[in-house]
Amino acid sequence: MFRIATLFSLIILMNSCTRPKAAHNEAVAHDVHSYGNPAEARVTHVSLDLRVVFEQRTIEGSVVLSVEHLSPKTKQLILDSRSLQIDETEISNDGKTYAETHFEAGPADRILGAPLKVDIKPDTQFVRIRYSTSPSSAAALQWLDPEQTAGKEHPFLYTQGEAILTRSWIPLQDSPAVRVTWDARVKTPAGLKAVMSAPNCMDTNDCHFVMDHPVPSYLIALAVGDLKFQATGPRTGVWAEPSVVAKAANEFSDTEKMIEAAEKLYGPYRWGRYDLLILPPSFPFGGMENPCLTFATPTVLAGDKSLVSLVAHELAHSWSGNLVTNATWSDFWLNEGFTVYIERRIVEELYGRNREEMEAVLGYQDLQDELKANPVRDQILNINLDGRDPDEGMTQIPYEKGALFLTEVEEKFGRAKLDAYLKGYFDHFAFQSITTKQSLDYMRTHLFAQDPAAAAKIPVNEWVYQPGLPATAPKPASQAFAAVDREIDAWLTGKPIETANWSTQEWLHFLRGLPEHLSAAQMKRLDSQFQLTQATNNEILAQWLLMAVRNHYAPANLRLEEFLTTVGRRKYVKPLYAAMDPKQARAIYEKARPMYHPVTQSTIDQMLAGRKESK
Ligand SMILES: [Zn+2]
Repeated sequence: MFRIATLFSLIILMNSCTRPKAAHNEAVAHDVHSYGNPAEARVTHVSLDLRVVFEQRTIEGSVVLSVEHLSPKTKQLILDSRSLQIDETEISNDGKTYAETHFEAGPADRILGAPLKVDIKPDTQFVRIRYSTSPSSAAALQWLDPEQTAGKEHPFLYTQGEAILTRSWIPLQDSPAVRVTWDARVKTPAGLKAVMSAPNCMDTNDCHFVMDHPVPSYLIALAVGDLKFQATGPRTGVWAEPSVVAKAANEFSDTEKMIEAAEKLYGPYRWGRYDLLILPPSFPFGGMENPCLTFATPTVLAGDKSLVSLVAHELAHSWSGNLVTNATWSDFWLNEGFTVYIERRIVEELYGRNREEMEAVLGYQDLQDELKANPVRDQILNINLDGRDPDEGMTQIPYEKGALFLTEVEEKFGRAKLDAYLKGYFDHFAFQSITTKQSLDYMRTHLFAQDPAAAAKIPVNEWVYQPGLPATAPKPASQAFAAVDREIDAWLTGKPIETANWSTQEWLHFLRGLPEHLSAAQMKRLDSQFQLTQATNNEILAQWLLMAVRNHYAPANLRLEEFLTTVGRRKYVKPLYAAMDPKQARAIYEKARPMYHPVTQSTIDQMLAGRKESK
C-alpha cells in the first residue's frame, strides 16, 4: 500500500497545477511598500534562469518579465529591488530578439530598497534583466554552512519572501496586489537539490518549475540542499534532509486528512500537491505557506503530533492568503485572521473539540499579552503601516484578533451560514488580491444582508478600525484547562498533582498559569518534578526557559544558550532576549547571531539597540 502511494505520488509530482482562468483584480490597490507602477505597466509573468553559487553566496542569472501595458503613455517599467547588482537590461516585443535598454536605479531606502526604472517602448512585451544577489545583504536569503544543517556535510540555502523581501533576490513589482505566474530553471552544485513553491520534480539538477496560478510575489520561494522526499499520501509528502525525512513523514502523516477536512468546509484544494519542506532550525518562522510546498521549522517535530496545528495553519493559507490574498500589508489580517480561524476548524475536525478549545484559549492568552505590549495604533486590524516596515504589523493581533472576529460572526450567524459564506467568498475572489474594504463590503452584501438583526449585534467597525477588543468579543474557554487551573492551585500549596495524561497544550497552560515570579525553591521543585530543563518539546522548553530567565534560575543557563544558538525561530528567541538582562542578552546574541536568518537578526538587532538607547 505504501509503495503504491509512493509511486502514485511520483507521477503526480510530474504534473503541474491545472491552469486557472487568468483572474486578477483590475483596480490595483495603492501599496506604500512598493515602488512599482502596475497601474501603467504591469508584470504578469516572471521567468527565472538562475544559478546558485554557494562559494560566493550569490544567486546569479536572468529574469524575463512579461509586461502588460495599461497606460499607452508609459515609458518606464518600475520595479522593486534591494541590494541587487543589475548588469544589463534588455527589451523585446517577441521574446526572441532583445535590444539593450537604459535603466536607472533610484536611491535606496532602508525598508523598501530601491526603485529600478527600465525604459520600455509601447510595443515592449518582455523585459530581460541580468543580475546577481548581494553576497552579504540579500535579506530574503539565508546561506547555511554545513555545520548548521542536520547532516553537517552540505551547505543549504533558502528564501523567505514575506513581506517585502522577494525584491532582494528577484527584481519585480514586489506588491501582494500584483499577481504573477512564473517559471524557473535553477542550476545547483552537483548533489544538491533545488525545490520551489510550485510542483516539484524528482530530478536532482534540471527541474523546470512552473507555477501557472497567478500568485503574489512573496510566495515565490526556493530552497537548495541535501534533500530527500517521502510521500505521506496521494497528494502529500515531505522534503527534508535525509536524517530528518522519516521522522517528519511520521509526524505529518495526517496531512492528507487535513486537506480533506478543509475541502469539505471550503471547497476544492486548487494547488495540486501539498508538500512540506523541513528546514534547518534557523528558519525564522513556524511555517511559510509557499504554494505546493510549505516551508516549516523542525521545532514542531515533537514525536507525538502535538504541534501539527502548524500544518493546519499553513494548509489553511491555501484558501486564505494564497487563493484570496491581502492587497497590501495593512490588510494582513485578511490573510492571518481568516487562516487562524480555519486552522482551528481543521484541528477540531481531526483532533476534536477539546484540543481546539485548548488552542483557542492559548491563542487568546497570546492576544491579551500582545494587546498589553503594543501601542493602540498597532492593535488595529486594518493597521496603518505608512513609512514603516510591514514586519512591524506582524504581531499576534492580526492573527488572533482577526480569528476572534470570525468567531463572533460564527456565534451570531451559526456555523452553517458562515461556512457557506466562506466557501462562496473563496470562490468569488479566487486568485485575487483584495483590500479590507472589499472583504467587508462582500461580507455585508453576502452574509450580513441575510440576517440584519444578527449583523447589528456585531460591531464590525470597532473590530477592524479600533484598538483593543469590542465588549462583544467571544472569550474562548476550555474545560480541560479548568482542571489544570485546579492543579496549579494544588501545586502552589505543595500538594502532589496528576500530570500523567497531560497534552502539550495542558503543560503550556500549567506553566503559563503559574505566577510570573517564583521563588528559587519553587523553580527547583518544578524542574526536579517535571525535568523541564531537559524538555524535548520545543513549545514547553521555550516556555520553561522564559520562566527560568525571568526568575534567574541558573541551572537552565546552559540549555538556554544551547537553544538560542541552534534555534532561530523568532517566536521563541524574541521573548527570551527581551526578558534577559542586556548584558546576558548581548553575550549570547553575539554567538547566536551568525546562525539566524536576516529576518530574526533584524528583529533582535533593533530590540537590543533600542534597549541600549533607553539606558
Ligand atoms: Zn499564517
